[in-house]
Amino acid sequence: MSDRYALPLLDAREAETRLCTYCPKLCRPACPVGTFEAREAVIPWGIMRGMNELARGAVAEGDEAAVAATAWACTRCGNCRSLCLLDNPVADTLVDARADAFAAGLAPAEASAVSLRFPERIARIEAAAGAVGAVDAPRGDGSTAYIPGCTAVLFESDHVAETTRAVARLSPSGGCTLVSDFCCGAPLLDAGDREGFLAHARRVAADLGAYTHLVTGDAGCAHTLKVMYARLGVAPPRWATVEHVAELAARNTHLLSAVDEKRAVVMHDACRLGRGMGVYEAPRAVVAAVSGRAPLELPHHHEHSTCSGAGGLLPVTRPETATAVARELADEVREVAGDREAVVVTSCAASRRALHSAGIDAEDLSVWIARGLLR
Ligand code: SF4
Ligand code: SF4
Repeated sequence: MSDRYALPLLDAREAETRLCTYCPKLCRPACPVGTFEAREAVIPWGIMRGMNELARGAVAEGDEAAVAATAWACTRCGNCRSLCLLDNPVADTLVDARADAFAAGLAPAEASAVSLRFPERIARIEAAAGAVGAVDAPRGDGSTAYIPGCTAVLFESDHVAETTRAVARLSPSGGCTLVSDFCCGAPLLDAGDREGFLAHARRVAADLGAYTHLVTGDAGCAHTLKVMYARLGVAPPRWATVEHVAELAARNTHLLSAVDEKRAVVMHDACRLGRGMGVYEAPRAVVAAVSGRAPLELPHHHEHSTCSGAGGLLPVTRPETATAVARELADEVREVAGDREAVVVTSCAASRRALHSAGIDAEDLSVWIARGLLR
């Protein structure tokens, strides 16, 4: 245990950080950050070894913040775990490491700023949701809430009405209630502000406590609400089902019809939906139903899919690395598409923005569902 800092969560992860410390770096090729930065300190092995040393008080005095900062050299993509023969949960360990570092005052300034500015973010989301306004869609028995996700509301608001009507049509409760002035709190979790995240999550759980079926349009929201809330003990027991809209649509592909789509359609597995929640086939079933053919697969797909670099606050803490990682994914798309005009379909809003910046056309899986349904 560190004699200079209290790091209780990292102390509890001693087994995980020790496993990596004595491992021959089997997962090295899996990590997008380590691959681009090409430094031992930011491959999963190096980061976890650094956390182990930090927790043991083995880091030289004055170097602790620099070592702690490597906990943010991670998109939480989970790709290292899919190559790890020991199934070591590196991303989850680093979520705890960030929380300890934040509480100890060792977080990078960029991460602290995300926490400080979170109220401004909420105000922006509420303003954007107000601009979207009410959507004319059946509410059914009132048990289903549809959460498009804050990135969709902030940057892709033109599609909120159609995706809401799509969820209403698919919902077994006969409709849904749009919840657009919403953030799951993932930025606080990624920043390491565990106290702030838990307080926010408890408010969300109270606000949405009346619903028994939550449908999200964004893979990140689905993962945070379903996996992280449960892991950190804030999910209300009434939430019988939390799912991404692709899961709901895949149970209803008979309602989807094929559209006239001439572009090459490329499937991207969002890290949070795929590795995070084990949902791989539902998006493919939906895209096949709407485009009339199976989507093209990237060189890395399913549990080995390539991260876009947009997760885990990497674009904030290491923007150059995040941009380079997105370019890698864009190159994979070009490799598959060849000379054809192509579109990537993904359930990750942050990935869509990253791909757009890298010159790739990327569309929301929710919008594809609406397109196949509302005809
Ligand atoms: S995650 Fe697994 S493979 Fe990678 S360094 Fe740790 S123990 Fe080794
Ligand atoms: S979760 Fe992804 S980004 Fe993080 S250490 Fe593992 S491979 Fe690297």
